[in-house]
Formats: sequence, structure tokens, C-alpha cells
Amino acid sequence: MVQHVGIIGAGQMGNGIAHVFAMAGYDVLLSDVNEDALKKALTKIEQNLHRQVTKGIITDDEAKDTLGRIKTDTTLAGFSEVDLAIEAATENEQVKIAIFKDLCPILKPETILATNTSSISITRLASTTDRPEKFIGLHFMNPVPIMKLVELIRGIATSEETYHVAEKFIKRLGKTSANSEDFPAFIVNRLLLPMINEAVYTLYEGVGSVESIDKAMRLGANHPMGPLQLADFIGLDTCLSIMQVLYEGLADTKYRPCPLLVKYVEAGWIGQKVGRGFYDYRGDVPVPTR
Ligand code: NAD
Repeated sequence: MVQHVGIIGAGQMGNGIAHVFAMAGYDVLLSDVNEDALKKALTKIEQNLHRQVTKGIITDDEAKDTLGRIKTDTTLAGFSEVDLAIEAATENEQVKIAIFKDLCPILKPETILATNTSSISITRLASTTDRPEKFIGLHFMNPVPIMKLVELIRGIATSEETYHVAEKFIKRLGKTSANSEDFPAFIVNRLLLPMINEAVYTLYEGVGSVESIDKAMRLGANHPMGPLQLADFIGLDTCLSIMQVLYEGLADTKYRPCPLLVKYVEAGWIGQKVGRGFYDYRGDVPVPTR
């Protein structure tokens, strides 16, 4: 039975995953190589819990108990106790493989190992671990406390038992799972990212400004967020990585990452998490950067 959950990577996704597991009563260990990321994650979780209290979704005591179930660490030592480990570090295959190399010898043999990757092959990642049959793709959506869906992705060796255990705890989190086969970027990002990339091309080719592209899709297609605002929200580094995985994995030029997206990432303007992307978030209101 899964009771103790460890999460590696305390960025935008890691803090949300820790939040929902702790709220569902699991003991959570949140780890990151960056001490500052852990501090920021705890502050973010506290703010989000407070918002849920204000909205009457949870009580003050529930918020306190939830926070009390989350421990943080800059090392992986405590992962010897966890029943489920979820990797939610930077979207970079080499980073993830290095984490699994350090992590696997620490884990109990029966521990399930999951990755929150947005696009990388589950089968390929699983093959670098000592437990491909206990390895699974668990793709949470951003922001995790709000979004209902979790994509479940089997690698070629993932056992049925692992899949069913995963289905069960997703249900306990109050989320709904959708099965996706293990192909580049799975379902949601296979559809979403080419749309975002096309929005960046639309900007690059001068068809519209940042403002007009986002307004067009909000009011014309009834999207809650424009595609460039959404790209900033996801993180432009993550968007670029996903497009590269689609481009290389499907060997089709229609997935070519827009050079303007590459330029923003090279500038370090990778979106809301750093204060600047297609919009500048450093003032009171976001201002388009082109
Ligand atoms: P992020 O940049 O906000 O956070 C990544 C975190 O990983 C950082 O805090 C970093 O310090 C940490 N990290 C890097 N190397 C590490 C290591 N070796 N050990 C421990 N921690 C390490 O990124 P994110 O948006 O939270 O994305 C994390 C994962 O979730 C990626 O695989 C991404 O594709 C996936 N994902 C992202 C979104 C999204 O909308 N941003 C949605 C679903 C899935």
C-alpha cells in the first residue's frame, strides 16, 4: 500500500504534487538539489492552502495538517522509506537518468518509481532503472491542485499491478486518469504544444502581436488563456524541450521548434517562473515583451 511518497524536484510541478498528496493524507518527502527551490515550494503550498481555506474548500486545521505532512530535504537519503517515488525535475533526459542512477540503490525493491515527464519516452527512462516493471509515467497537469487530469503512461515493461496501484492513488487524490500510449509527448502535449509553437511562429512572422494573438485565441476560440500566456505559464524551457522531443521522436518537420522560442530560452526569458517571457511580470500588470 502506498502511504509514504517522495518527490524529486520542487519546482512548479513538484510543489503542486506534494500539495495534493499531502492533502489526501499521504506522508510526503519533497526533495530538490536547490535549497531555495524547497523554501519557495513550501511558501507556495502554504499560499495555495490558504486560498483553499478562504474559498471554504478546506478548514484551517486541514491546511495545517496538510502542511505538517510535508518534509523537505536536499538529499535523497529519506527515499529509503517511500512506497512511491515521483521524479518531477527539469525536463531534460540526462538530468532524469542521473537522478534514477542515484535514487534506485536507495529505494526499497517494492517501491514504485514514476516520472512526471511531459514528453520523454517512459520505456527509455524505465530502461535506465533497476525496475522497469515498477516504472510508470504519471503526468500531472499544471496547476496540480486545480487540474483534474493525470495521464497514465505504461512503458513497454510496466506491470499491470503497477498500473492498477497508480490508478488507485490517482482516484484517492480526487483526480481522473486518462491512459496514453508511450509516444512522444503523450496526448495532452502532443496536441497542446504544436498549437503553442504555431502561436510563436505567428508572432515570429508578424501575423499578430503578443497581445492580439492571445486575445484572438481567448475570445475567438474561447480558450481561458492565450497560447503565449500559457507558454509563459508552462515555462518556455519546458515548451522547447517538448517540441524537441516531438521533432526528434516523430522525425517530422511539422514539429520544428520556432526559432523565436529558442531565442527566448537562450535569453533566459523562460516565462512566469523567472519573471519574464512573452510577457514581463515584474510590474503590477504583465506587459508584452514584443
Ligand atoms: P521547474 O523548472 O519549475 O522545476 C524543476 C525543479 O527540478 C527545480 O526546482 C530544480 O532545482 C529541480 N532539479 C533539477 N535537477 C535536479 C536534481 N538532479 N535533483 C533534484 N532536483 C532537481 O520545472 P517544472 O515545470 O516543475 O517541471 C518539472 C517536470 O514536470 C518536467 O519533467 C516537466 O516536463 C513536467 N511537467 C511540467 C508541466 C508544466 O506546465 N510546467 C506540466 C506537466 C509536467
